[in-house]
Amino acid sequence: MRTLPAAFAAYKWAPSTEELARLVGLDPIDIVRFDGNVPASPAASARPATVAGALARVNEYPHGGYPELLRAIADYAGVEPENIVLGAGADDLILLCARAFAGPGDQLAIADEPTYPLYAIAAALAGAEVGTDDPVVTFCCRPNNPTGALDPLPAARPLVVDEAYYEYAGDTAAELIEDGVIVLRTFSKAFGLAGARVGYALAAADTATELNQRQAPLAVATTSAALALAGLAEPPDVTDQIEERDRTTRALGALGLEPLASRTNFLFVPLDEPEIVGEALLRRGLVVRVFPTGIRFNVRDREDDDLLLEGLAHVLDRTAPVAPAGTRRTRRLRTTAETRIRVRLSLDGASRVRISTGAGLYDHLFEQLAFHAGFDLVLEAVGDLETGPHHTVEDTALALGEALDNALGDRRGIARYGDAVVPMDDALARASIDLGGRAWADVRLERDPGLAQHALQSLAQAGRLALHVESTGTDEHHVAEAAFKAVGRALRTAVRAEGAGIPSTKGVL
Ligand code: PMP
Repeated sequence: MRTLPAAFAAYKWAPSTEELARLVGLDPIDIVRFDGNVPASPAASARPATVAGALARVNEYPHGGYPELLRAIADYAGVEPENIVLGAGADDLILLCARAFAGPGDQLAIADEPTYPLYAIAAALAGAEVGTDDPVVTFCCRPNNPTGALDPLPAARPLVVDEAYYEYAGDTAAELIEDGVIVLRTFSKAFGLAGARVGYALAAADTATELNQRQAPLAVATTSAALALAGLAEPPDVTDQIEERDRTTRALGALGLEPLASRTNFLFVPLDEPEIVGEALLRRGLVVRVFPTGIRFNVRDREDDDLLLEGLAHVLDRTAPVAPAGTRRTRRLRTTAETRIRVRLSLDGASRVRISTGAGLYDHLFEQLAFHAGFDLVLEAVGDLETGPHHTVEDTALALGEALDNALGDRRGIARYGDAVVPMDDALARASIDLGGRAWADVRLERDPGLAQHALQSLAQAGRLALHVESTGTDEHHVAEAAFKAVGRALRTAVRAEGAGIPSTKGVL
């Protein structure tokens, strides 16, 4: 083998979530990763049905490549299919560009410092050196990782511009591909498909042809190509992520920290002792990326980012700029071939509820339940709605029940019983609950818009609660809504923390 430079350090991945959990003695579900610069959830289009067609033909090569994907990328990026080179992530294309342009004796220039470490690794693997002495090619990360800065484009040519975070910054060098510029993009960031490993390069047609000749045959798997194509059918809207980044930036300011101005989905916060802060955050299950002069973390969503802000305040011994999350809380991820459901539940919340399952009426009903229970609940479901709402609603109820069971822990000190009567125009609902741990459901709705009764039964089953509900009335929506509200009100009483003891004369639940 050709020897690598003495100072060569291979790309180093952060440990797995399971390994980190073991290290700090937590359940892997309680590890929240802020270190990958990826969205908190996959793209909504990333579900089993999307890859079903590719799986049915997984025994075959995709002869002829991926013309449909090339066309879709071309339309998205404003180029033609002959301007595109596919790769297994932007990383693959960084390695390709380095070995295509540079070899032993050559210098490869890197525009920013600090920046993404793979350019230097790619130079060494190609046998070249990093330097500015008549470089054969220049790499530039724009916006830059880890700073988040969108610096001016270097004048050097040929120039490889890594636009992994293009969607967040909205600024591109793609119009310069006829002027010696190669643009690298990825489906790993805004598209939420990091695990699929799909990226692409945009280049002048002759350059793209040269790069394709040097690329591995079919570097992208058929299942990944299907995911990328489905993602392009509905390109991501990053407005919420940008707003969340700016909210987090302001909250960090309130903490007395000074994050660098970012045009990406992540923030770099300069710190005196980043290593110590990173380790302390990890002990709370919060994983950030530690650099010699600070920490870097991506935004996720308000609830997760508030955990990080609260954690940072605690670690730095400052006043938290956000309300504390409470201790009786849980995270669940429930996945089947039919549905994928992510739940975050806090029993001692302030009725901050965000539910999106795609089954609109049931979003509304579960929202009523959680709101009247006083829970903080984020519930995101992606299900096979093309088969109807049954799987999605049932699994949502089961996931919520599991989360409730989990958040209650050993159920010590809770009120245990709760009941409520809720009128709603023509409808009248009564609900009684026993959180003693034995599942039982007697749910009688005089009218049902479809799955209301089944959802409450599923909740009782997975939540290990005895649930009695009776709701009457002439309007099915009112009957169901009153029932969900009554269950919420009854839960609010039953989960109340009253003491330290076991709420049973038997001494066990
Ligand atoms: N370029 C930059 C600047 C990045 O931050 C990353 C991911 N950390 C990549 C490229 C790699 O992206 P991909 O997953 O597409 O290989």
